[in-house]
Amino acid sequence: MSTPRFRAVLDTMPPYKPGKAVVAPDGRSFKLSSNESPFGPLPSVREAIAEAAARIHRYPDPGATALTEALAERFAVPQEHVALGGGSVAVAQQIFETVAEPGAEAIYAWRSFEAYPMLADLAGMTSVQVPLTDETHDLDAMAAAITDATRLIFVCNPNNPTGTVNRSAELAEFLDRVPGDVLVIIDEAYCEYVRDEDVPDGLLYRDRPNVAVLRTFSKAYGLAGLRVGYLIGHEPVAAAVRKTAVPFAVNAIAQAAAIASLRAEDELLERVETVVKERDRVREALIAQGWTIPPTEANFVWMRLGDRTPEFAEFCAGYGVAVRPFGTEGARVSIGDQGANDVFLAAAEAFGA
Ligand SMILES: *Cc1c(COP(=O)(O)O)cnc(C)c1O
Repeated sequence: MSTPRFRAVLDTMPPYKPGKAVVAPDGRSFKLSSNESPFGPLPSVREAIAEAAARIHRYPDPGATALTEALAERFAVPQEHVALGGGSVAVAQQIFETVAEPGAEAIYAWRSFEAYPMLADLAGMTSVQVPLTDETHDLDAMAAAITDATRLIFVCNPNNPTGTVNRSAELAEFLDRVPGDVLVIIDEAYCEYVRDEDVPDGLLYRDRPNVAVLRTFSKAYGLAGLRVGYLIGHEPVAAAVRKTAVPFAVNAIAQAAAIASLRAEDELLERVETVVKERDRVREALIAQGWTIPPTEANFVWMRLGDRTPEFAEFCAGYGVAVRPFGTEGARVSIGDQGANDVFLAAAEAFGA
């Protein structure tokens, strides 16, 4: 019996490995593997979710009009500059679909967000991975990697999984070197955690028709389970990204929760402040233990453990702490609440730098 013939790329594509939860022998469990918010949903957001649930026999607003309006107002941009998707990973997929053609190249740093290679493969694009320098995007090398075939560049700022940033002057210099017909996406999944004032708000796209920003409600806004992300870019970019979305991509409950979250932004950003303080505390404590931890502007720290990476992840699991190991490169550890962070720090200390 023969089987259907699938695309060859499905056999070679790197799978997306989601962060796992682990449970210690004593039953403790701290999930520091997915960069989630440690806080549960706000009461006002829960209420919006409950209200929306009463109407889910109806299709959602296909254009997500109210959420689009709320985002446009929040960022003082025209509504035509906003495009939505079911999580920013889905928006990223929509972005790849807008430019993918046989032979087209996508440039991104490596290591960076692990969805990029998968999405490039699925879109049939060729990945051009430019190694990090000092755990940071090497924008010079990325500019040098541009060819006639380049159609898309992702800059993840802050970078997942290293937490490092590229600052305004070097980014502007880089963008000046990118041809106007190449789409540049600044992936700002963690922008709410940035405290370095030299890191540009990606809304720098305003002067640049080929640049757009990608953002999400999954991290700082705590809606990872609902799947809402968005792009802000000039009208032709946003329009193209809307065209490649599947119909009704953002469900009704997600739309309502995202709108409620924008209304509760002050409360949510207070929580972000707590995480930022914990991040700085965790990084300093690790450095005091003898670890080398790159400066981080996100809600996680990066430990380049090399060959010790799998062993470290297993050791932390013994404490009930799930971290995110990447092969034999290193581990990314999300910032949780104070209690979880203390358990992680105890595990790191016991393992030994
Ligand atoms: C977490 C993350 C995303 C997106 O997540 P969604 O839940 O799909 O919105 C996008 N980019 C980066 C770099 C991330 O780390």
